[in-house]
Amino acid sequence: MKNILVTGGLGFIGSHTVVELQASGYRVIVVDDLSNSTVDVLENIEKISGIKPDFHQLDLRNKSDVQQLFATTSIDGIIHFAAFKAVGESVHKPLEYYENNIGSLVYILQEMVKHNIKNFIFSSSCTVYGQAETLPITELEKTKPALSPYGNTKQVGEEIIIDACNAHQLNAISLRYFNPIGAHDSIHIGELPLGVPQNLIPYITQTAIGLRDELSIFGNDYDTKDGTAVRDYIHVVDLAKAHIAALTRLVNKENTENYEYYNVGTGTGLSVLEIVESFERVTEQKLNYTIVERRKGDVTAAFADNTLVTSKLKWQPEKSLDDALRSAWEWQKKNT
Ligand code: UDP
Repeated sequence: MKNILVTGGLGFIGSHTVVELQASGYRVIVVDDLSNSTVDVLENIEKISGIKPDFHQLDLRNKSDVQQLFATTSIDGIIHFAAFKAVGESVHKPLEYYENNIGSLVYILQEMVKHNIKNFIFSSSCTVYGQAETLPITELEKTKPALSPYGNTKQVGEEIIIDACNAHQLNAISLRYFNPIGAHDSIHIGELPLGVPQNLIPYITQTAIGLRDELSIFGNDYDTKDGTAVRDYIHVVDLAKAHIAALTRLVNKENTENYEYYNVGTGTGLSVLEIVESFERVTEQKLNYTIVERRKGDVTAAFADNTLVTSKLKWQPEKSLDDALRSAWEWQKKNT
């Protein structure tokens, strides 16, 4: 049985990935500093899979702790989620973002080299493309200068991994996520935003349940079908499964390059208003919303061409938008 280290394994995408790893027969070691998650998630993972993963509460900025972890743990592959992820906050605290997101990445790669661990999966983001020239977005699309320190940590992170792969014969895959939403079917795990949600779906569910007065829709003067911005919303369970496909490709030595990267999205672009309408239909809730100014840094439209990921990783999205919205709503009701 292969041992997989999952950093940030109690977070939103991390926890869903842990469950899918367990279902695929991997043994999981979770590292998390609990800065944006709670230890209850471990028990909730166990409720789903019947297996409690090994857990280390650890801050990956602490180099000696990272060294100690690798010295005492047998690891065959790593899925690295742990990172700060608030775009707006990153503008005000860039050095914390660089220290956390880049520092921890470097320490992990150093330990991989030291302990001869070859397989690494990195959570990247479609934000590396900025406003793409061509839609849907293929992997041939040029990356653009990042609009925030957070976005830059993903771009610089990918570059660091490329250099490490070339110098040290590591194998890595970056997954460039579009917009992950939803919760596990069991409703035992889901997204737990700290404070006021920045992302659309938690803001919608919190509004529908009465925690927020109304949703602000950021702009209706975009050059899109109804004027609101367009994104590619992917069910978090589908996204989690893409990690298993990527890891399995490396473990089975099926990769053709030592560094590969894939867009992970559904291929469908939906506007904010379409999401609101779908949410109202699926949940039979009326949502209060108002149109406000565009949000700084938002692009007009981003949705994936997922041809490469479906062909090379033999993965495809299985869940619908309605599944995702329904589960997000059930999760909100359970947690309010
Ligand atoms: N959005 C919105 N109101 C909100 C949060 C988000 O209108 O309260 C819009 C946002 O402008 C974007 C889309 O919803 O067009 C998705 O935003 P989110 O922050 O979830 O993800 P992003 O695409 O920015 O990573």
